[in-house]
Amino acid sequence: MKKRTPVIAGNWKMNKTPSETRELLKDIIPQAPKGSCDVVVCVPFTSLAAAAEMTAGTALKLGAQNVHWEEKGAYTGEISAQMLTEIGAGYVLVGHSERRAYFGETDETVNARLKAALNAGLKVILCVGELEAQREAGITEEIVSMQTKQALRGVSKEQVKNVLIAYEPVWAIGTGKTATSAQAQEVCCYLRWVVEELYGSSIASQIKLLYGGSMNASNAAELLAEDDIDGGLIGGASLKAADFGKIIEAALKPAEKKD
Ligand code: PEP
Repeated sequence: MKKRTPVIAGNWKMNKTPSETRELLKDIIPQAPKGSCDVVVCVPFTSLAAAAEMTAGTALKLGAQNVHWEEKGAYTGEISAQMLTEIGAGYVLVGHSERRAYFGETDETVNARLKAALNAGLKVILCVGELEAQREAGITEEIVSMQTKQALRGVSKEQVKNVLIAYEPVWAIGTGKTATSAQAQEVCCYLRWVVEELYGSSIASQIKLLYGGSMNASNAAELLAEDDIDGGLIGGASLKAADFGKIIEAALKPAEKKD
C-alpha cells in the first residue's frame, strides 16, 4: 500500500471553449472520488470561470496551465497567480515541455513562476523530462536533476510541500510512445532521491511524483502500480471522460505488479 494519496491531473492544453468545458465537466465531475484520489483538471485560462462554477462543492480540483511571476503590471497577455487563486484555481502547471519548446521557457523562468505560484498559495505541478536524444545519450538523470534543482532554487522546506513533480519524458508526450513502467519508475525513484538530497527524507517520502507521457486507459494501471509513481499527468486521454475515468479507477486500485 502506498502512503501517498494518488493524484490524477488532466492537462487540456489549448482545447475546449467555455461551453465545451461545461459539457466535458458534466461527465468528469461524477468520476472524481472524495478523499481516496485527488483529481485535477488544468483547463485553458478562458475556461477557468466556467469550470470554477461547475466544480464548486465537488471533489474535482481546478488548475491552470501557466502563471506569470510578477504580481501585476505591464505584462500584456499574462496572468498572475492571484488572478488564478481568485478565480478558483488551486493548482498550476509550471515548466511543461511545450512551454519550454515553443515559448522560450527556461529553468530560470520556471523557478520564478513556481515561486510566485507558491507565494500565492497555489499547488504547483512542476514538469521535468528529457528529450529523446538526451535519453539516447544516457543523460536523463542529469537533465531531470538539473531541471528539478533549478526550479526549486530558493524554495523552502515548508513551501515544497505544495509542489508535485511530473516526470514527463518529452519523447512520450502526445506521441503515443509511453515510457515503460520500469523506465518511469527508475526516473521517479531517482527524482525522489534528488528531493531527499535537497530537503531530507521526510519531505522526499511525502512528495508526489507523477508520470506523464501518453498515459491512457490501457497503460495507466501498470504505471501507477510502481512504488514511486503517485499519479499521472494526462494530456490527450484527459479530454475523453470515459478514458480519464478509467485512469482514475486505475489509481484507486493499483494493479498487481508484473515482475
Ligand atoms: C501532457 O501534456 O502533459 C501529456 C502528458 O500529454 P499526453 O498525455 O497527450 O502525452
